Amino acid sequence: MNKMKSRFIGTLIGTGVGDALGRPFEGWSRKQIEARCGRIMDLLPDFPPYRLPAGQYTDDTQLTIAIAESLVRSKGFDLGDLISRFVDWLSEPPIGPGYGCLSSIRKLSSGVPWQEAASDSGGNGTAMRVSPIGLFYYNNISKLIEYARLSSLLTHNHWAATASAIVVARSIAYLITCDELNIDIFLKTIASSVQKSEFEDYAQNILKLKDFLKRDKVEALIELGGIGIKPPWPNPAETKEGYIAAYAMSTTISALYCFLLSPDDFENSVIEAVMAGGDTDTCGAITGAISGAYNGIEKIPSRWIKLLVNNEYLKKLAIDLYKIAHK
Ligand SMILES: [Mg+2]
Repeated sequence: MNKMKSRFIGTLIGTGVGDALGRPFEGWSRKQIEARCGRIMDLLPDFPPYRLPAGQYTDDTQLTIAIAESLVRSKGFDLGDLISRFVDWLSEPPIGPGYGCLSSIRKLSSGVPWQEAASDSGGNGTAMRVSPIGLFYYNNISKLIEYARLSSLLTHNHWAATASAIVVARSIAYLITCDELNIDIFLKTIASSVQKSEFEDYAQNILKLKDFLKRDKVEALIELGGIGIKPPWPNPAETKEGYIAAYAMSTTISALYCFLLSPDDFENSVIEAVMAGGDTDTCGAITGAISGAYNGIEKIPSRWIKLLVNNEYLKKLAIDLYKIAHK
């Protein structure tokens, strides 16, 4: 298969399998996951009392599909169409949604103008869904940044959500055109996309990943799980339990770290993202998108793809996106 097409598919399927791998463990710490399951190797059903089957994804993949469908339908970014597609998501219904998306999209559905609907959340709701914008606009970085930002502002007003959406989209765009990864250049490139003072210390925290990669993996992820969190918010790193906070900066930087731990090994990166605990479905989804963008569909374990709900549709959607992006 054409390498670029494979990477488009790898990004969307990667999101889905990462999301589904992490879903049963959302809110668990690394210690709890290890005690119950050892190392997670397979997509699992929920533990009682929940009942979702193995391979079921959550809001991360649902809203990624929403953005991809809107880009395909409108042949590019169209704010009004995206709003109507987000509103449709309310009746899918949402699976495991976060406060930031749910509260703002409910306001949009009742006719509140988008400029007033967004939550003040700095959570993960926008970085987790942005990968199709990174794919579609990989060749036009100023539009990529503009639309990643706008897609985020629809639901999240906080700078960390905006910056994270830009960072994830920029990472995808970089990686789908990259043949041999140079970690230094990759980190500098994505850091430069959020180097403005409105994004505080985001760019510096991305550049610190080089040092984190030299450290013990578990210790590094414990610290990254709370990176950027300031009092009065509790920092999960202080408990040493292993927990990625559902804060856009800590999750996005942790996902980048998991990708960079084994850039050529999709399976290992996504397992590490989930084993890190906390917001496991989203850290899995973002890591899966980023690693899938670099590795393509061929490197995603087929035992995961087979179990993934709607895998054929995700593949078709990625191919449609690829075709329209290259018209
Ligand atoms: Mg989720």
